[in-house]
Amino acid sequence: MLGLARSHLHRLSRRDFIAGGVLIDGRWVAGEQRDGVIDPATGEEIADVARCNAADMNLAVAAAERSFSAWRELLPARRGAILRSWASLMLAHSEELAILVTSEQGKPLAEARSEIAYGAGFLEWFAAEGERAYGETFPSHKSRSLLQVRMQPIGVAAAITPWNFPVAMITRKAGAALAAGCPIIVKPAPETPLSALAVARLAEEAGVPRGVFQVLVGDPIELSTPLLSDQRIRALSFTGSTQVGRLLLEGAATTVKKVSLELGGHAPFVVFDDVDLDKAVKGAMAAKFATSGQDCLAANRIYVQRRIYDAFVESFAAAMAQLKVGHGLDLATNIGPMTKLSVASKCRAQIDDAVAKGARAISANQGDSLGPSFVVPTLLSDVSEDMLIAHEETFGPVAAVLPFESEEEVVARANASEMGLAGYVYTDSLRRALRLSEQIECGMVGINTASFTGAPIPFGGWKQSGLGREGSRHGLAEYMELKYVCFGDLAD
Ligand code: NAD
Repeated sequence: MLGLARSHLHRLSRRDFIAGGVLIDGRWVAGEQRDGVIDPATGEEIADVARCNAADMNLAVAAAERSFSAWRELLPARRGAILRSWASLMLAHSEELAILVTSEQGKPLAEARSEIAYGAGFLEWFAAEGERAYGETFPSHKSRSLLQVRMQPIGVAAAITPWNFPVAMITRKAGAALAAGCPIIVKPAPETPLSALAVARLAEEAGVPRGVFQVLVGDPIELSTPLLSDQRIRALSFTGSTQVGRLLLEGAATTVKKVSLELGGHAPFVVFDDVDLDKAVKGAMAAKFATSGQDCLAANRIYVQRRIYDAFVESFAAAMAQLKVGHGLDLATNIGPMTKLSVASKCRAQIDDAVAKGARAISANQGDSLGPSFVVPTLLSDVSEDMLIAHEETFGPVAAVLPFESEEEVVARANASEMGLAGYVYTDSLRRALRLSEQIECGMVGINTASFTGAPIPFGGWKQSGLGREGSRHGLAEYMELKYVCFGDLAD
């Protein structure tokens, strides 16, 4: 009998979505070597895809370079029309794309559907923003001269994308690059190639010209090495771990690329004792368990003020007990498998470490019978700063709850991290909200909300959580160069 993912894939009307060819220079290449794609819930191989090598990457870079001048010359409105049509095709195929995402990534189907809408949203938003790549004309410091700044496309871009949002992290980068007038080569995570390749099929159908958007799958080091050393690649955008981000930044230094990095998080989620407890618990549940915890925005350290600490833990544990762990294609599932076994192992190691050092573990008690990639949602209370979970990103459904006494203390503890992606503050005091929104050291702060991301916002982190921004006009600028022009001697 077919497993759940295979039987869903067999029923897809778009057979080409699982053909596993890669897109190089407008051609679908089946490849001499293939790699299996695994359903993380079962360990079953559900498809296979071409494995590209360094020579394929060199062909892709050359094709992108050839496509650049025609693409940059196209009017921004025309580029925008192609991006919009790509977004419409994604929405029209939302269900099939969502099935691919859940089958290879593991997230619940409802979340996969949301990801497709979120991902298409970047294409739509950048379609319009490309027309607003305004420069400046400014008062001159020289007599009889006129000064301008123009925004021009930087050249060929490359993207290395993660497995946790296998569609949206591609469109967030590609939408900006294409709107700016730059071709882009995408290397998706080896765990999640199917949805990336399906999105590439739709790009082609939408009229993205040959060479402008290419997707190559294969070994990360083999494919990234030629990208890093090739001076024709002018911009590199990466989402993933801080460890790999550092390596890529170092590698990109030899050709001085413009690098944008969206790396790990370790978000503090601070709950003051003046809040509506139910709202805070609801927010913490959303901020902790979205994408089964495999989210760089995930609340990694939930600080709760002492007076409401016990009540919060009790109510949070009760909400967690409702979470159903299972296969993402089972519609009752809230928490799917970890996409990579290493993530599940890290979660277990953090739980063991915390318990050994005195934390109390409350788990949803569903047993480990589902298999090694599943992590039972676990609440760790009385977590102290010496525990691993207080320092390392978890990336799974393990919630650390830490008590605090004063505002000053919690700000210091929240900021005592080399990560600075997102932070959350729950309080009823406007003044305190304003103070904390200033003091928290991270790129994005949610005040009384766990939901703030989307195409118009500048997504990115401080400190070792990254460089640059994605989404928003700042995201477009990552693919553009400023050019200052001085018109002198204007006297008649
Ligand atoms: P990773 O950084 O290894 O993988 C992300 C991407 O980088 C993938 O496309 C991968 O193929 C590629 N990659 C890996 N090693 C590379 C190398 N040496 N050179 C070039 N590319 C390389 O992440 P991971 O190991 O899959 O996950 C580990 C941790 O990273 C997670 O637990 C989490 O903390 C973090 N992570 C963060 C995000 C995010 O959204 N910021 C996404 C994924 C993972």
